[in-house]
Amino acid sequence: MCRHLAFLGPPVTLRALLVEPPWGLYRQAWAPRMQRHGTVNADGFGVGWYAPGDPVPARLRGGGPIWGDPSFADVARVTRSGAVLAAVRSATAGNAGGPGAAAPFAGGPDEPWLFSHNGALTDWGRSLDGPAGALPVAALLALEARCDSALLWGLVLHRLRGGAEPGEALTEVVREVAERVPGRMNLLLTDGRTVAATAWGDTLFVRRGWPPPAGPGPVGTVIASEPFDDAPGWEEVPDGSVVTAAAGDAPRVRPITATTVPV
Ligand code: GLN
Repeated sequence: MCRHLAFLGPPVTLRALLVEPPWGLYRQAWAPRMQRHGTVNADGFGVGWYAPGDPVPARLRGGGPIWGDPSFADVARVTRSGAVLAAVRSATAGNAGGPGAAAPFAGGPDEPWLFSHNGALTDWGRSLDGPAGALPVAALLALEARCDSALLWGLVLHRLRGGAEPGEALTEVVREVAERVPGRMNLLLTDGRTVAATAWGDTLFVRRGWPPPAGPGPVGTVIASEPFDDAPGWEEVPDGSVVTAAAGDAPRVRPITATTVPV
């Protein structure tokens, strides 16, 4: 399934983060090394980033392969950011296509969130009445696409708007959905200052200290489906966990306790 990545740290170009590493997300679109489901990620891509002094992210998304997008290379070369979330998509059969179904998903025009889902839910359209029924109709109508990932984002956003912490919102949604439908739910969420991610059925890694520190100052953190190079420092997040990280702090990994297990 898809591959995704979030970064918090000293500002870098999108190109340095996504394209230049030998096994970067850009290359993972056609040559992922650890993908367990699907082969290539050519059904869409998206990059979301934060500009200094603006808490609301910008997004560039497309419904086709990242390497075929006419704007990505230019934007990636000239855009620097200290907080980024990006994804390349291998669409699950039955889900909508197009840029609206490509992560990152976002909140309203003045909200700070970016969200991605790597995984798939089985038969979600028929089986998720329980948790989805807890969403106001307006929230269901506001979903960006008819897609399992967009629905999961709706469920997470509803909890964030209710005051849940990011890691708590992801954990609650994974638990609640896993009780009803089998699926894989590697979720990734940032507000530009913190990142939360779940490992629930697919690979997930954390690396502290990227880019290599040029001097004293906050250390960068990357959370990604798979390492983008073979340098030391990548740590695998155990399946069935939630990881939270804030700029400069060591990431925290906790188990997601649930009555069911990832499939
Ligand atoms: N199921 C989601 C979709 O169709 C995510 C796919 C993935 O992880 N490859 O977009």
